[in-house]
Formats: sequence, structure tokens, C-alpha cells
Amino acid sequence: MQPDRRKIAMGAVAPFTNQPLGHFVDGASVMGEGAPFPITDPSTGALLGEARDASEAELNGAVAAAKRAFPGWAGTSGEKRKAILHRVADLIEARAEEIAAVECLDAGQAWRFMSKAALRGAENFRFFADRAPAAADGQSLPTAEHLNFTTRHPIGPVAVITPWNTPFMLSTWKIAPALAAGCTVVHKPAEWSPYSARLLVEIAHEAGLPAGVFNSINGLGETTGRRLTEHPDIKAVAFVGESKTGSAIMKQGADTLKRVHFELGGKNPVVVFDDADLDRALDAVVFMIYSLNGQRCTSSSRFLVQRSIHDRFVARLAERVRQLKVGDPFDSATEVGPLIHERHLAKVSGYADVATADGATIAVGGKRLDGDGYFYSPTLYTNADIGMRIAREEIFGPVLTVIPFEDEADAIAKANAVDYGLAAYIWTRDLSRALRVSNAVEAGMVWVNSENVRHLPAPFGGMKASGIGRDGGDWSFDFYMETKNVALATGNHKIQRLGVEA
Ligand code: NAD
Repeated sequence: MQPDRRKIAMGAVAPFTNQPLGHFVDGASVMGEGAPFPITDPSTGALLGEARDASEAELNGAVAAAKRAFPGWAGTSGEKRKAILHRVADLIEARAEEIAAVECLDAGQAWRFMSKAALRGAENFRFFADRAPAAADGQSLPTAEHLNFTTRHPIGPVAVITPWNTPFMLSTWKIAPALAAGCTVVHKPAEWSPYSARLLVEIAHEAGLPAGVFNSINGLGETTGRRLTEHPDIKAVAFVGESKTGSAIMKQGADTLKRVHFELGGKNPVVVFDDADLDRALDAVVFMIYSLNGQRCTSSSRFLVQRSIHDRFVARLAERVRQLKVGDPFDSATEVGPLIHERHLAKVSGYADVATADGATIAVGGKRLDGDGYFYSPTLYTNADIGMRIAREEIFGPVLTVIPFEDEADAIAKANAVDYGLAAYIWTRDLSRALRVSNAVEAGMVWVNSENVRHLPAPFGGMKASGIGRDGGDWSFDFYMETKNVALATGNHKIQRLGVEA
């Protein structure tokens, strides 16, 4: 029998459901005084609780705490930071079941994925913890006259702003490297799924993180998010979310010359050539769009299939989509849970009319499922072409658009015909073709004969409208740190003398 995961989740969020969820600043919980906003359960549509939009004074207080804590944390040895961050990972592992259950409750994501995502949160902390002692390392660039050497220094207090799709894992992915680098953090989680961020900040303090180093404030994007990105004491903004929000944040941060790192939307192609291992390709195509309810930045939402295998492959694909198990996110058997919010459900379901108006076919699904939760049937659109909105816009739901292509050149042209450029997946047994297409495709990440399998030292990020900058490995530290060059003279060189008589 499965444990009662809903009960576990309700127990974990109980302290925040009787009164609005506030903030966590300078090592302590703050009730908050700003206007409350609702948090709903995507599975039932019922009100779970409320959270408070931080007031301007509360936001300023969180930034001030991060600023005060910065010199101490930046000056803490890398070894000590490493030890604390490993303790954070230990505590995440110890509470992984509870964290995963809260994600099922709050974000509607299925248990089978969230149980792994919680552990990935611990892995993110361990990975960057191990790198903390060498974060400041640089290069030596000697000349005959100078020893140039570089060092790296944490940039200062930073803002981390995250979305609702896999809230806990994504928060750790941004916050762990910031802390390992020696930055202090003000985190604003998404307003539709704020609970696991509260667990994270509490865990971090239980692990021994000093007060003020990691602060968490709740609030809406247009108020709290905007103020945070405009604040002069915030030196950089690490943002994960929609492309249009990234654009707004760039404007908001312009007056204070913010350094920004953007992980934005995607409309990622999976390109299947007729020589591919079609069984493995089918598994990957289904997994990469219908897992995480399709609410995944790297989801392969555009299926480019060679015309010679189109009918055969699409028939098998449609069969698989019909068999997906939609249901209670807490159930281990569930493959697709509810969408995050009524507004998002309206957006995703609205594309069915768009698809038919544009001349595509709804081969499977295309409708809201009965009940009060925000369930949407796994959907497959066929007979689409690359000019249609369903082929160009990020729908961010369990929705796949099939577009046939003729040959390699046509596949590349279609893969690149959208504004986004996050990930691409290529299926072929011809290695030379795989290399040519990988080179030509406009995407920050390409997987050949694979689904999205992450290796944390490898760079993660997108080009075009999908982002600015890369995470992972040393790329994360490059963002959170300033590189300084020191030129130390040997004393051998002649300094030009001005103001002396010839
Ligand atoms: P969103 O842009 O609406 O919101 C993300 C966060 O930004 C939230 O915390 C929100 O409150 C905040 N925000 C909104 N307006 C703001 C403003 N003006 N100033 C400051 N903050 C503001 O995104 P979402 O709907 O929560 O998430 C889904 C999007 O995230 C999708 O586009 C998805 O592709 C993207 N995403 C990208 C990656 C990646 O790695 N590239 C990963 C996950 C999700």
C-alpha cells in the first residue's frame, strides 16, 4: 500500500494554511503585512491557503539583511561553506519524501517525477558545495614585466526569482551555486507554488546557514518581483520563467545596471529521421512532452518527423498518448497530473480552437477533463505546419504538435523557424548527419539519440528568446562572481616619464 502522501503534504504545510504564509528574513519567520493572495490545490481547485505579497518595507528589509550578511558570508572559507551546504543536502535527503509530497500538492506534479526531483535538489547542493573551496580560483597570465593573476569574488547580494513548474528543484539549482560562490540571496518563489521554497529556507537554517545569508520573500511578480529587480543593493538577478518576463526584468534592472541570467521559455524540436531507432525514439518523444505535465522548459513540444515514416510513427505515438495515465499526482501510477492553475488551464485549452482554426487536426485529446481539478487530456495535434501558432508558441502543457519534414535541410530549417532556442533532440543512426544537424540547429543544448539527461558539470541554458547565460559547472560561478585581474610588476620595465625636462 502506498503511504498517504497527501496527508504528509498537508502536515508539512499545516503551519502555513491557518494563516497566510509570510516570509523568512534574517534567519527568522516574518508574518508579513502585505495583501494576501490565494494558493490553490491544482488537483481539486480548492483553496489551500494564502500567502502575503511582501510590502515595500518588508522587501527592503530582506535586501538589507542580505546586504548586512554579505561581508561575513563572502569572507567565510570555501571549506566552511562546503560543509554547511553538504548539511543542507543531508537534510533535503532526510525530508525528500515530505518535499516531494508538497510539490505534488502545490504544483500538481506527479509523484514519480517529484520523488526524483527532491533528491536532485540535494544533488544540486552537493555538487556546488564540493566546488565552493575552488570558486575563487583564477589563472596566472605572466609577461616578462608583470605577473597577471586573476581571482574571483562573489558579486554581492543577488535576487533569485523562480517559476512554478518544478519549484523546489529549480530553486536549489539557482540558490546552491549562489551560496557556494559566497553571495547572499533574496529568493522570490512563484506565487502559484510557494510552499516548498519555505521548506528549503528553513532547512538551510537548520543546517547552520548564518542569518541573512538566504532570505525568502513571497509576493506577486508585478509588485515584489519588480521591486526586487529594481533594488540598487541587488547586484544580479538569476531568473527562471517566461521570455516576456525576462524582457520586463531587463528593463526593470536597467537603471541599476543589473547583471542578469535568464533561463526562459522553449519550443524545443525533437527531430526523428527515418534511420533512427524508432522504438527508443518513440519512448523519448512521449517522455519529453508528457512528463511533468508538459510544464517543462526543455519539453520537446515540436515533433519533426521525416515524411517517409510519418504515418507509421504517428499511429504508434497516438496509441501511446491515449494510454497515458492521468490522475492524482500522489499516486505512483500517475503519469500526468493537473495543470498548475485555472488560468494556465484556460491558456493551454485555448490552443485547441487555435489549432483547428489554423487547419491542424486534434488527433488525441484537446479538452479539459471533468471534475474540479485542472486536468487536461494529453493532446496530440497533427497535420500542422511550422507557420501555425501551435508550432511556434510555448503552450507549456501536455500538448505535442507533429510537423513532417522531407530531408535534412528541411528539418534544420523547420527546427530553427521559431523565436526560441533552448534544447533540441535529434534521432538518427547516421553520426555524420547527427553532427551536421547539431551544428546547424539553434539551441543551447542538443541531445542526440537521448532525452534530457543532465550532467551537472555541463552547461545548461538557451539561445535566442530562451535565455541569456549558462548554468552548471563553472558557468554558474562565472555569473555569481566578479573576475579581477591583478598585475604585479617585476620592476624591470621602463615607466614612461612625463613632466621631466628632456
Ligand atoms: P513567469 O515568468 O510568469 O514567472 C516566473 C517568476 O517571475 C515568478 O516568480 C513571478 O512571480 C516572477 N515575475 C513575474 N513578473 C515579474 C516581474 N515583472 N518582475 C520580476 N519578477 C516577475 O513564469 P512561470 O509561468 O512561473 O513559469 C513558466 C515559464 O518558465 C515557462 O516559460 C518555462 O519555459 C520557463 N522555464 C524555463 C526554464 C529554463 O531553464 N529555461 C526552466 C523552467 C521554466
